[in-house]
Amino acid sequence: MPDQSFDLVILGGGSGGYAAALRASELGMSVAVIEKDKVGGTCLHRGCIPTKALLHAAEVADTAKDAAHYGIRATFDSVDIEAVTAYRTGIVAKKFKGLQSLLKARGVTTIDGTGKLTSPTTVQLADGTITGKHIVLATGSYSRSLPGLELGGRVIDSEKALDLDYVPKKVAVLGGGVIGVEFASVWRSFGADVTIIEALPHLIPNEEEVLSKSLERAFRKRGIQYSLGVRFQSVTQDESGVVVTLEDGKTIDAELLLVAVGRGPSTAGNGFEEAGVTLDRGFVNTDDRLQTSMPGVYAVGDIVFGLQLAHRSFQQGIFVAEEIAGLNPAIVSDTNIPRITYSEPEVMSVGLTEAKAVEQYGRDAVQSYDYSLAGNAKSEILDTTGSIKVVRVKDGPVVGVHGIGTRVGELVGEAQLVVNWEAYPEDVAPYIHGHPTQYEALGEAFLALAGKPLHAL
Ligand SMILES: Cc1cc2nc3c(=O)[nH]c(=O)nc-3n(C[C@H](O)[C@H](O)[C@H](O)COP(=O)(O)OP(=O)(O)OC[C@H]3O[C@@H](n4cnc5c(N)ncnc54)[C@H](O)[C@@H]3O)c2cc1C
Repeated sequence: MPDQSFDLVILGGGSGGYAAALRASELGMSVAVIEKDKVGGTCLHRGCIPTKALLHAAEVADTAKDAAHYGIRATFDSVDIEAVTAYRTGIVAKKFKGLQSLLKARGVTTIDGTGKLTSPTTVQLADGTITGKHIVLATGSYSRSLPGLELGGRVIDSEKALDLDYVPKKVAVLGGGVIGVEFASVWRSFGADVTIIEALPHLIPNEEEVLSKSLERAFRKRGIQYSLGVRFQSVTQDESGVVVTLEDGKTIDAELLLVAVGRGPSTAGNGFEEAGVTLDRGFVNTDDRLQTSMPGVYAVGDIVFGLQLAHRSFQQGIFVAEEIAGLNPAIVSDTNIPRITYSEPEVMSVGLTEAKAVEQYGRDAVQSYDYSLAGNAKSEILDTTGSIKVVRVKDGPVVGVHGIGTRVGELVGEAQLVVNWEAYPEDVAPYIHGHPTQYEALGEAFLALAGKPLHAL
């Protein structure tokens, strides 16, 4: 491959890298994306998209099981995992093809290969040097484990879990965060016995406690077991299964152990530190405009400490392209990035929890309203319970929205707009929500906080 030069060179073609590429090419830059595997990265090939396909298949299984509740005669027979896999991989393949075409149509050069940063303007490949006036690092993340806990055999990460060609009968899941909870939900819907092990006192421990507790109740009802507040100690495995031991001496037998304890930044071996980019515990240090310690070199996505979400990576990619183009884009804080856990039930949130709002503004300055989905007709139709909680500053804006219930992930769209626009409940209360919808619950909470509740006290 001959040496090549571009305005912008991006190392890694996942959510962050390809978003930067698309925006930069729109802004008239010549752009190269260097990718060692497939553009689309973790989210498209091993993360967001395939897991959400599995969760949808799980919802179909649950609907079949509950059909009689709706007056429909149907029976749930079994899960045809081969067909589920064909459905899942078919979606990923279509989206992959679409992304490749889009990058091509926008004039982005995609270069296959493993790149190594060698200076503020160069990336070295096995067979040539790519030079950029600016460089964006977007090399993503990998499944972490715990010290002394080795992945292998029946101890698997989320990538292996996706590729299983059978439904395990009994699974243990280490980690009650988003990834652990989502796989637990799928496997339960597919008929497995599932136990989640979480060292902190609650599942999805970064969310409002009221949501964690609701999720725990809903999971208990679904027969998903969990052990909270006790740490993992060790695991042994043989041909038939694993035995997990917790620090309190309790043991859990299962066919598999999924390790879902978080993701580490993929920064080792990419030449970053050698070239002069400062790292902190493996994450790339950046200023608040995503520039690394090396002027002209930026970092986006999972390698930048904070929420590891695809839409944060997209946003950071766009931000960096605009920053390089001198457009002075606005910073979006991690707090105001929407978060969704796509289990059954779903959990959504944006902005501050009530506890964090109280910390920031003081107890007397914070007001909240918790609207129960029991009052929401569409939720009744879907046979879901749950709630939507809105947190505001008294006589001030909405600073947080948090919800749980079947399909409530979609509600975060309106919620994130209200929080990011710093709207007051009084500003948005007059605007109308379709009826019957689940997002009416948001409208009801805004009405209540504006002092004029409709279907609530
Ligand atoms: C099971 C699972 C489910 C998830 N579900 C969701 C979800 O529903 N919603 C959500 O928002 N997020 C979800 N995520 C997180 C999301 O996938 C990540 O936040 C997102 O992919 C990060 O984007 P990125 O661009 O930083 O990195 P990545 O997507 O990891 O992309 C990095 C790319 O860089 C390439 N690369 C690395 N090193 C080099 C090198 N030296 N040379 C060339 N190429 C290189 C890699 O091959 C990879 O393609 C999920 C993650 C997992 C694991």
